[in-house]
Amino acid sequence: MLSLEQLVRKNIWSLAPYSSARDEYSGKEAHVFLDANENPYNSPYDRYPDPLQRELKQLLKKVKGVPEDMIFLGNGSDEPIDLAYRIFCEPGRDNVVAIEPTYGMYKVCADINDVEYRRVLLDDKFEMHADELLAACDERTKIVWICSPNNPTGNSLCRDEIMKVIESFQGIVIVDEAYIDFAQQQSLRTELVSHENLIILQTMSKAWASAAIRLGMAFASREIINIYNKVKYPYNVNLLTQQQAMEMLKDPFEVDKWVKILLDERQRLMQAFQDLPLCEQVFRTDANFFLARVTDAQRIYDYLVDRGIIVRNRNRVTLCQNCLRITIGTRSENAELLAALRQF
Ligand SMILES: *Cc1c(COP(=O)(O)O)cnc(C)c1O
Repeated sequence: MLSLEQLVRKNIWSLAPYSSARDEYSGKEAHVFLDANENPYNSPYDRYPDPLQRELKQLLKKVKGVPEDMIFLGNGSDEPIDLAYRIFCEPGRDNVVAIEPTYGMYKVCADINDVEYRRVLLDDKFEMHADELLAACDERTKIVWICSPNNPTGNSLCRDEIMKVIESFQGIVIVDEAYIDFAQQQSLRTELVSHENLIILQTMSKAWASAAIRLGMAFASREIINIYNKVKYPYNVNLLTQQQAMEMLKDPFEVDKWVKILLDERQRLMQAFQDLPLCEQVFRTDANFFLARVTDAQRIYDYLVDRGIIVRNRNRVTLCQNCLRITIGTRSENAELLAALRQF
């Protein structure tokens, strides 16, 4: 790996971050706070929240086994995705490499930041080949994006291939594990200590059933997390989000129960799909959704919309011609989808 100083943009490396009142004084003993121009009424919403979300990170440490100073929290995963470009990629000069098809935000943020986005096609089984990704990199490639389990394909990518990219690439490898809580595959969190170029993204939006609160996580080396903390907005995770996330993390067994139910439902729904005349292929998945190739994705999509049922039409996505992406819902929602499709 190149040194972090070689990888980070010069202006970011030398950035003097904004120092908030809560940064300058963060001890517990004081009881009169006249330092942040807050209004003293309307507790607890009158006060700026903890800019580093320390209490929340303590809980996350227990659940995820990652030390607090190796965790960055953002406004959804979108924030650590965008910040990665702003930290590492010189607009108009640097490039990133990503698997294709994958999650759309990597490309959108590349475009916003004026960074060239290079796509490396998965094979017809939606597998990734490390050598092909590495071959697409050059001396201006700062980041390689890998999503596993991948969206929209659903499959986990081969761990050996991912590790090969992490171990061979000179820059930053970001592995998006938004769906890892549904997966048979293990998280790469255990690889963080030995791989300083690895950033892992997770989120409260999927298995944790908290998409509304917008909380995304990045796990990485202390050095990388420090840079993230320098670049982020000072109070990027609001108090309500921090509180609700802590509520959820206090009962992780509830999430385990949901995951188990959804995996059972997934099994049932995929089985039923295979017997539908309109279904040509159901792709294997490690997430809370699956991709199905159907006879005519657009017509079936429109038909379902007319019945108030919305799935994701991925017909226009590379390698996903005539594919619908189906999120696993409750038992009755899934039954309603099946009933409608049987009448198509
Ligand atoms: C849904 C999803 C996310 C989550 O994004 P948030 O901003 O945290 O809600 C991240 N990555 C992938 C691949 C996703 O599908």
